Amino acid sequence: MIAEWIHELRQLISLRSLKARIFFIILLAGVIPCIIMRYGILDNYEERAVEQRVATVQNQLRVVGSHLVSNNYFGSNPSDEVNFIASRNTIDAELETISNLYEGRVLVVDSGLRVVKDTYGLSEGKTIISEEVIRCFRGENMSYYNKEHGYIEMTVPIIDTGALTEEDDAGGSGSVMGVMLTSISNDAIIGTMDMLNRQAVLIESLMVVCVIAVAILLAILLSKPLDRVTKAINEVQAGYTDESISVPGYLETANIVDAFNQLLKRMKALDDSRQEFVANVSHELKTPMASMKVLADSLLVQGDAPAELYREFMEDIVSEIDRENRIITDLLALVKMDKKVQELNVAPVNINDLAELILKRLRPLARKKDVEVVFESMRPVTAEVDEVKMTLVITNLVENAIKYNKEHGWVRVELDADHQYFTLAVSDSGLGIPEDSLAHIYERFYRVDKSHSREIGGTGLGLAITKSAVLMHRGSITVNSVEGEGSTFTVKIPLTVSLNRTPQTT
Ligand code: ADP
Repeated sequence: MIAEWIHELRQLISLRSLKARIFFIILLAGVIPCIIMRYGILDNYEERAVEQRVATVQNQLRVVGSHLVSNNYFGSNPSDEVNFIASRNTIDAELETISNLYEGRVLVVDSGLRVVKDTYGLSEGKTIISEEVIRCFRGENMSYYNKEHGYIEMTVPIIDTGALTEEDDAGGSGSVMGVMLTSISNDAIIGTMDMLNRQAVLIESLMVVCVIAVAILLAILLSKPLDRVTKAINEVQAGYTDESISVPGYLETANIVDAFNQLLKRMKALDDSRQEFVANVSHELKTPMASMKVLADSLLVQGDAPAELYREFMEDIVSEIDRENRIITDLLALVKMDKKVQELNVAPVNINDLAELILKRLRPLARKKDVEVVFESMRPVTAEVDEVKMTLVITNLVENAIKYNKEHGWVRVELDADHQYFTLAVSDSGLGIPEDSLAHIYERFYRVDKSHSREIGGTGLGLAITKSAVLMHRGSITVNSVEGEGSTFTVKIPLTVSLNRTPQTT
């Protein structure tokens, strides 16, 4: 269990693993929106808080501004000095209150750009030449937020609403009697933002922990079917089972498992056929040995056996040795056929001459059964083939046609060619092949009639060798046969061996 967890953890750390990728994707998908949201909300709050503060302060200053006008704050020759000073003090107190309330400074500037009132008491009586103030006199209000130094600056015009109607014709600018230039601190906003930020970070940290837990869980859960596939394949490999595996989970894993099962099936079929071949080879090789042993034993048992009997038995033993030899020769030929096309020893061969030569060699065998062998060639054919293997092909087909023929029968070998292929058809008037055996005749050691085939010296390997040789030349072999009437084997081989061409199906 612990080892399993360590394994899982290692996979999570390795970036190449699917688990790690799922983990990081979920982590990023969970954490990034949290961070973006936090910054978005804080930014938005700051913007709105500044806007609100500016609006509130501007409103309050406007009220004070109207008091300024109504109390003739800028008046130089008041008729009622006592009243004038009292109302001026009231307005100064209002300005001080605003200044204290918003931790800022308010400057009241008259139309001559002279600072009439400074809540800090520093610049009174001085002249202020500031672009913002001049603009405000022209009717352009402004507010400016300096985030870096933490203050908001704004200008508010002091408008004489009564004078506006009188001096309207003069252009309207005369109605601005003065300007209040104010800068206030944004510490309160920063404080609230800090608190909000702390809370957001706390929530964010909790979220990150939850997202990490969910990401680990999902990474393990989502990759589980893949782990199950690996486990199932390992079990097959370790030999616990050779049954086809089944891991339902995802469509993708089902596809992998399907492909694996196909491979397993193919390997099993190959293994079975190999085992069957070895069993067949052993059996075939043992049969002549068993006969020889029986013959030798029976000679040994009879101590004084006559010389004729010895001779007869020895002849039998020699024929068994010949048989064993034939099987071994055929097996070796078959093994050689398993090699690749590249290993063909290709050279231009006159197929007419080759066929004539083989028929000449086989005629004594045909004569024994009184079988007539005829060769018909439509045209002279020269093809690029491996002469040894092509000899095997023609020999096996003609030999079979003679071996599995009736007394006084016939064998006809026809050779023809077009511009791409040459065809060699071997027909006979023999026993024919039953329909259900046709699919098997190219299998190793397959014989239609085992005892008859053995009698006439067959090994059951001839057609297997023939087919391999034909396929190596990228040719095809077909058979037409009617039981009791005869068979025709047709071989079609390319005139030139092009290694890239796909093989013909048979
Ligand atoms: P074998 O060495 O026994 O002849 P082959 O592989 O050459 O083995 O042939 C397989 C079987 O196909 C033979 O045992 C035989 O029964 C059948 N066969 C092959 N050629 C012919 C033919 N021309 N006519 C009838 N049967 C044939």
